[in-house]
Amino acid sequence: MQTKTVAIIGSGVVGLSTAISLLEAGYKVTLIDKEKPGQGASFGNAGLFADYACLPFTKFALLKKMPGMLLDSSSPLSMQTSYLPNLVPYGLGFVKSCTREKYEQGKQALTSLQKIAYESTDKLLRLSDSQNLVKANGCLALIASEQDLSDAKQGDMLERQQSGVRLDFLSAHDVSDLEPDLARFYAGGVFYPDTRFTVSPVSISQNYARYFSEKGGVLLQDVAQEVIPDSQRVAITLSDQTLTFDQVVICAGVASKALLKPLGFNFPLVSERGYHLTLDLGEKQISRPVGWLDKAVFLTPMADGVRLAGTAEFAHADAPAELSRTNTMLKHASTMLGNEPEVVSSWVGSRPSTPDSLPVIGTLKNHPRVNLAFGHGHLGLTFAAATGQLIKEIINNEQTSVDITPFAPERFS
Ligand SMILES: Cc1cc2nc3c(=O)[nH]c(=O)nc-3n(C[C@H](O)[C@H](O)[C@H](O)COP(=O)(O)OP(=O)(O)OC[C@H]3O[C@@H](n4cnc5c(N)ncnc54)[C@H](O)[C@@H]3O)c2cc1C
Repeated sequence: MQTKTVAIIGSGVVGLSTAISLLEAGYKVTLIDKEKPGQGASFGNAGLFADYACLPFTKFALLKKMPGMLLDSSSPLSMQTSYLPNLVPYGLGFVKSCTREKYEQGKQALTSLQKIAYESTDKLLRLSDSQNLVKANGCLALIASEQDLSDAKQGDMLERQQSGVRLDFLSAHDVSDLEPDLARFYAGGVFYPDTRFTVSPVSISQNYARYFSEKGGVLLQDVAQEVIPDSQRVAITLSDQTLTFDQVVICAGVASKALLKPLGFNFPLVSERGYHLTLDLGEKQISRPVGWLDKAVFLTPMADGVRLAGTAEFAHADAPAELSRTNTMLKHASTMLGNEPEVVSSWVGSRPSTPDSLPVIGTLKNHPRVNLAFGHGHLGLTFAAATGQLIKEIINNEQTSVDITPFAPERFS
């Protein structure tokens, strides 16, 4: 039998992971991206393999807070006014996902992905010789006020413990033992001992791409303009040629929505932009990712400096960076560090976000040759390898390692 051919559109961490999984299973894989590997959202994330992340954002309590947060310039949430029409279907989906039942289903779905995330990630790190880019020093999530700390202990943290996440509550004294160079802005926090992080997200993507090429995968730098499936093949129109394959996997991050529209499929995916600043802390050091939960910022020690990452700005992916966002983040970092650090560089990129905080992983019902793997929001690095494994199982007609029903492309149709 002839080897099946698969095209993957998008060489972010999700596309790369999917490409390697399919290549390892014996498929002929072509990975198409208009940029070099790992330059989209996968370039600029906070670097956490967030094993603790099993709670969807879809809580009525958060929904109620949102209008106030949007009006408060120091809050992590903001919106570009001209982006509002895109947010309507997303907002409706968000509200629908806030019922107790949907929330619990979402929690179970994220927990099921977490169960395969560690092993699948480890496999790709080993294959691509990337273990040296990952550190296992745990992660700290800090909270400024006693009241918020006590609420968290009875709220999100308790829910995480009940879902099987290992965590330890820390007093202010414990925190300062772990990270002595932080200012005492916190009342205490939580330590996640099993969380790993990378010191260079882009190097992981580059290593995955190198491994993929060495093993015979084809990397094509071009823009995929249209995906045209029929009963026999799927054609992909590039800038000056059309190629055909047995299957395609769309892993184009936030751009996946536009690629799917001509197929009559309109998923409420949005661009939730995040920023990072690379900081030089001078004499100061931190040994692990440190988050300030109420401000939604993380400081992660990376190869080229400390990365300050955060913010949820609903805005067009190609809109100019909003300086007020990074100014706010820098203010929070200065509180965390006790002085204003030097800024070395800055970056903005779009998280591909879905209304129910769950990625889209599956095959289009009306187009069985078109598979989707996008919408990982805040957790694309964490769930990339798990997604690749699931897509390989789907295309290979295997029983999937986890129930993929919650990730179905048509769930908002
Ligand atoms: C500030 C910030 C912090 C984050 N922190 C974390 C974290 O700590 N842990 C975590 O797990 N996640 C984190 N994330 C989320 C994570 O980065 C994303 O979910 C993930 O990178 C998405 O990967 P992707 O491969 O789906 O998309 P991308 O990395 O955006 O890749 C999509 C690719 O598709 C290509 N493409 C698009 N359209 C076309 C086309 N028509 N033709 C060809 N190519 C195309 C693009 O060029 C791009 O390379 C963070 C995100 C941000 C912004």
